[in-house]
Amino acid sequence: MAAIRLEGVRKSFGDLEVIKGVDLQIDEREFVVFVGPSGCGKSTLLRLVSGLEEVSEGKILIDGTEATGLPPAERGLSMVFQSYALYPHMTVRENMGFGLKMARVPASKITRKVEDAATILHLMDLLDRKPKALSGGQRQRVAIGRAIVREPKAFLFDEPLSNLDAALRIEMRIEIAKLHQSLDATMIYVTHDQVEAMTLADKIVVLNGGEVEQIGAPLDLYWRPANLFVARFIGAPQMNILECDTRSTDGKPVSVILSGREVLRLPGSPDPVMGGPVKLGIRPEHITFAEEGPGHFSGTVSVAEHLGGDSFIHVDVEGLGTVTVRAPGGTSAAVGDRVALRFAEEKCHLFDSDGLAARWHGMQATSIPESVRRPSQEP
Ligand code: ADP
Ligand code: MG
Repeated sequence: MAAIRLEGVRKSFGDLEVIKGVDLQIDEREFVVFVGPSGCGKSTLLRLVSGLEEVSEGKILIDGTEATGLPPAERGLSMVFQSYALYPHMTVRENMGFGLKMARVPASKITRKVEDAATILHLMDLLDRKPKALSGGQRQRVAIGRAIVREPKAFLFDEPLSNLDAALRIEMRIEIAKLHQSLDATMIYVTHDQVEAMTLADKIVVLNGGEVEQIGAPLDLYWRPANLFVARFIGAPQMNILECDTRSTDGKPVSVILSGREVLRLPGSPDPVMGGPVKLGIRPEHITFAEEGPGHFSGTVSVAEHLGGDSFIHVDVEGLGTVTVRAPGGTSAAVGDRVALRFAEEKCHLFDSDGLAARWHGMQATSIPESVRRPSQEP
């Protein structure tokens, strides 16, 4: 299995620069997810790794050896696409073994490799069927099987589940996680779906407009988004982002001021120290309903989404805007109700006018789960 390294990778199509300088280390056996909105360059970046596109600038190294100019076949990587592109006239067995047959691998060896892959993918009973007699999920498994039999140094997936319905997508997501465990393979996986990214990745690369916004473990991005883009992109419902004023003196707690009144006092001290107008971020799950009182926000419920397990309650707060609260499913809040909200001060984020997040000293140490804390982040 391979380690892959990108150094200063850029890609332009004519005048349009699509990848604007990406540096990235993918370790052996790591599951790395490229995530970002449609058009941000995820597929292009993956195609640059695979060799289907040529870089305009920069280097790609596979296992420490430069692979920048190598054609796809010589990179030893296998790609699985959103459209499975199976041969309709061939059986599952023939589809999976076709690449090996073309490479003149002996028939007995092909049989063994196809059956090994079919066992992993629960396709043994379907080997003699044609693609038209398979469900979408089964077809996608055949496409993955075709990649497995080639024993690649790494697997590259480009939105492999996007064509499947919601239930099947969740099922296949779990299959892919298991596949990663059983193959113990390096995988790069592209998706626009932050839930897929969060659930599958060892490491997420958040892309936006051809640039890397942040690289980190899923919970790292959730608890410590580096900027507004990542804060909004990771987590559903989205983090609430609220305009407010702050007052802070070096090393002292931050007061959050709304309409000239101190409404929150954040524990710890932000770096850089922020005073004046800022954006305050708080996730819906870090707000609770409370009694009216000092430090609480009052508002009126404008929309109540009851999903069963959870309720998403949208509250219009005077001077602040609409705030989304993630409440337990039993919540009775209904449209028109007056409610008071309590923000968990230790879970607030502050962003400056450039959208960059403040790093916190002291505060995060107690509010972030222990497994996510890293010594380097708490100077
Ligand atoms: P994503 O996979 O994140 O949705 P893509 O990597 O497919 O994004 O595309 C990124 C940008 O590059 C888009 O603006 C797209 O239109 C452009 N692009 C991709 N491929 C080509 C191409 N072959 N020629 C010109 N522009 C392209
Ligand atoms: Mg794409």
